[in-house]
Amino acid sequence: MDADIAVIGLGAMGSMTAWQLARAGASVLGFEQYGLGHDRGASAGESRLFRMAYHEGAAYVPMLRRARALWHELSDSSGLPLFRPTGCLSIGLPELPQMRRVRESVDEHGLDHEILDPDVLAARYPQHRVHDGEIGVLDAGGGVLRPELAVLAACAQAQRHGARLLPHTPVENVRFEDDRVRITAAGTEYTARTVIFTAGPWSRQLVPGLAPHLTLRPLVLTWFAPTGDPADWAPERFPAFIRDTDGVHLFGVPMMDGMSVKTGFADAFGDLSGTDAYTRDLDERRLRPIGEAVRRFLPGLHPDPVRYSVYMDAYTSDRTAVVDRVPGTDRALVLAGFSGHGFKLAPAFGRIAADLALRGGTDLDLGAMSAARFTAA
Ligand SMILES: Cc1cc2nc3c(=O)[nH]c(=O)nc-3n(C[C@H](O)[C@H](O)[C@H](O)COP(=O)(O)OP(=O)(O)OC[C@H]3O[C@@H](n4cnc5c(N)ncnc54)[C@H](O)[C@@H]3O)c2cc1C
Repeated sequence: MDADIAVIGLGAMGSMTAWQLARAGASVLGFEQYGLGHDRGASAGESRLFRMAYHEGAAYVPMLRRARALWHELSDSSGLPLFRPTGCLSIGLPELPQMRRVRESVDEHGLDHEILDPDVLAARYPQHRVHDGEIGVLDAGGGVLRPELAVLAACAQAQRHGARLLPHTPVENVRFEDDRVRITAAGTEYTARTVIFTAGPWSRQLVPGLAPHLTLRPLVLTWFAPTGDPADWAPERFPAFIRDTDGVHLFGVPMMDGMSVKTGFADAFGDLSGTDAYTRDLDERRLRPIGEAVRRFLPGLHPDPVRYSVYMDAYTSDRTAVVDRVPGTDRALVLAGFSGHGFKLAPAFGRIAADLALRGGTDLDLGAMSAARFTAA
């Protein structure tokens, strides 16, 4: 047997899973079709938002707490600046469902936060042009993560604990036998007792039972240069944010590169239907709506992006991931469908995957993440 556990795909979820498995003493074999920390999947683009006051629901908060602790641990053990605490500002009308869920998160879990009424919000953060009645919820536990560095750090920690990671080694076939799993990758066969699929946007090929339930979406990140003093957009003055105004869902992070501010449409980048999800190209006319949103809501930025890139993620119909055993075998787990909001939780999912594989259970509530909700019908 080559390893106890094989991990297929070493993006955010796979690298964290390999780290957590290896530190728990398991023998781990990890496969990655590209180089470690590459930018072709869901876990690249310089920065990711970390939020505790969760638009998607207060039920995520215990998992977010676990993730935050592990982010700090990974930063400390790697010596890399993976998490920049900037706070995260949610902006919107208080009656919006997502703003209500933010308030529920802070109230139910006693999160450190500040509610900013419209006047305070406008005075403290003049970078945002706020509309009548909009409030801000400043989530003190929020911040900015560095995705490429994080994947590399988790891989390095996994290797330090003995994991064998194989970059540039695409898995071509996985076969289940009574006592083992046979994996063919780059023409060579490997064996393991258990396999964990963390293939992100490519999960449909590797776990065909989930294919009808995962949709691939290209997501575009755009960076805009300030027209005035760049210091106004530095992390000390401009927290990460997520904003919903007039049906426009915008998110952004402070200046991380000394010259531009990343902001983009939350969720998919408007309607990109007809675009090949695996593409990295984009018709530049598609950038106009985001430029228009920047002109309206962040008037201190030049509305033509100085750069942009296209990434992708796999979405489920309920925007909730699948973290479960693969139906039909007790030798496989799958983590997929993170629907544009999985990165911040990646170390917690890595811990969960390791617990499920090594102990058969986890102390965190996986709530609605079962595969059966899709595959049982
Ligand atoms: C542009 C964008 C912005 C986002 N913003 C945020 C944010 O601000 N905050 C947040 O929390 N989340 C955010 N998300 C979501 C989050 O980044 C993703 O949900 C998360 O990164 C998914 O990680 P993954 O490991 O599932 O996928 P990936 O990182 O894509 O990893 C899958 C890996 O599997 C490998 N692989 C696939 N098939 C094979 C094979 N056959 N053999 C070997 N290797 C294989 C791939 O090469 C890849 O490295 C964003 C996503 C995108 C795309």
